[in-house]
Parts: sequence; C-alpha cells; structure tokens
Amino acid sequence: MPELPEVEVVCQGLAPHLIGRTLLAITHSGKKLRCPFPRAAVKKYGINATVTAVKRRAKYLLISLDNGALIVIHLGMSGKLCLMRPEEPLRPHDHVRVRLDSGQELRLNDARRFGLFDLLPPAEAANPKWLRELGPEPFDQAFTADYLHEKSRGRKTPIKNLLMDNRVVVGIGNIYASESLFDARVSPLKPAGEVSLAALKRVVAGSRKILNQAIAAGGTTISDFVNSAGESGYFQLQLMVYDRAGQPCRACQGPIRKVVLGGRSTFYCPRCQR
Ligand SMILES: [Zn+2]
Repeated sequence: MPELPEVEVVCQGLAPHLIGRTLLAITHSGKKLRCPFPRAAVKKYGINATVTAVKRRAKYLLISLDNGALIVIHLGMSGKLCLMRPEEPLRPHDHVRVRLDSGQELRLNDARRFGLFDLLPPAEAANPKWLRELGPEPFDQAFTADYLHEKSRGRKTPIKNLLMDNRVVVGIGNIYASESLFDARVSPLKPAGEVSLAALKRVVAGSRKILNQAIAAGGTTISDFVNSAGESGYFQLQLMVYDRAGQPCRACQGPIRKVVLGGRSTFYCPRCQR
C-alpha cells in the first residue's frame, strides 16, 4: 500500500511535469473506483484547464486548476500514477488517463480499485470533502508532544493505534508506526494515556526522522517513476523491526517480537521498547 513517503515522492516527481500544463482530455475505463467518475465536472472544469499547483495532504494528491477546481487522487491499496506517451498501449487496470499538452499522458493504474479520482468544482475545492476530519501532518508545527499528550490522556488504546489514527495525525502507516516507535524506544502496546510527555517527544521526533528517511530514499527513484511503469512499493529503508520477527534486534541482539494490534502485524523489541 502506498504510504505518505511514496505519495510525497510521487507528488514531487509529478509536479514539474504537470504545473503549467493544460489538460486536453480526461478519459475513464468505465470501472468504478472509490467514487463514481466525475464526468460532468471533468467536462465543465477539467478539459482545457491549466494546472497551477500539485500538493499532497495526508495520502491525497491535490492538483489545482486555474479555474479554481481541484483534482483529488488517492492511490488506495494498489494505485500507481505514471507519465507515458498516449500512444503506449493500455495496460490492464489503466483506469484514468489525463492527456497533457506536453505530449504526455498521466495514467492512474489500479488493480484493486480502492483508489480515488475526483474533480471538485471551485465551490467545493476550498474545503474538499475527502480531507475533512484529518489531523495534522507529521511535519506540521501543530504535531507536537504536547498535542499528542493532550490527545492521548485517558486513552487505553495502544500508542501504535493512536499514531495510525488519521484524526490524530495523518500518514503514519503500519510499517512507519512500528519503525518510529522503535526509534523512540516506546512499546507499541503501551496504552497511549500512559506514555509520558518525554517519551511522546521521542515519538514525534522518531516519526519525522523515519518518514524523512523514507522520502529521501524514495527521492532517488523519482526518475524511474516518471519514465517507466511507475514501480512503487516500500522504499529501501533499513527496517529495524518491521517484518523481522524472531531475528536479532539491531540494537540489543534480543529477538524481535510480532503481535497483532488492531488487525495489523506489529513488530517490536521487548527489551529496547518499554
Ligand atoms: Zn532491542
């Protein structure tokens, strides 16, 4: 599943190819994604509009148009965006094609179809329905230990689940939550309400550090992404705990343990993380 770092890299990779370009055509396979294809809005606001900005919010990609409309894309479980020449044959699961005046075509390919392609009219673009109720970005100044402290008091939910709750903070997915908590030396199982302010400081710093490392690792794949089939997947981070059950902890050599929390595999070192 594409996570925040992947979407950030896609955003950074796409921006120079999209900004200033005019959209000549937007076509759809007819297969339903997360919402129905916004046919009327595409016709009215999409065609012949020019892209003014490409941004990311949580795992949503936001493409602003010069008429005030907004294209919202989410990659869901298996979505990939790639730029290719329009004459390249359609591949299975190429569901949305956006033809640009540069001679390139942006394609949303999504085998499992949990992805989203929406085009919001100017009146809805200022407060996109998909983004309501989202917490702050991990890199936002609003995401602090004090903020997490306030959100977590009295909560018995494990700290890992709190970190993965989009209403608390966006974009910390399963792998990055496990890795961030290892960096912070905090057990993922610990009830959120019992994590001290000092430990929450390490959690905030650890989350940013791990996400930044992943974005930096992904930065080297930008050229692949724009030129080829848009292979995504997790960036080549050296994982400290994730998917390492039974293997020695890279810090203390003790065995990494796996538990299931909220239905998600969770990995930690019981010696290093309290
Ligand atoms: Zn350890």
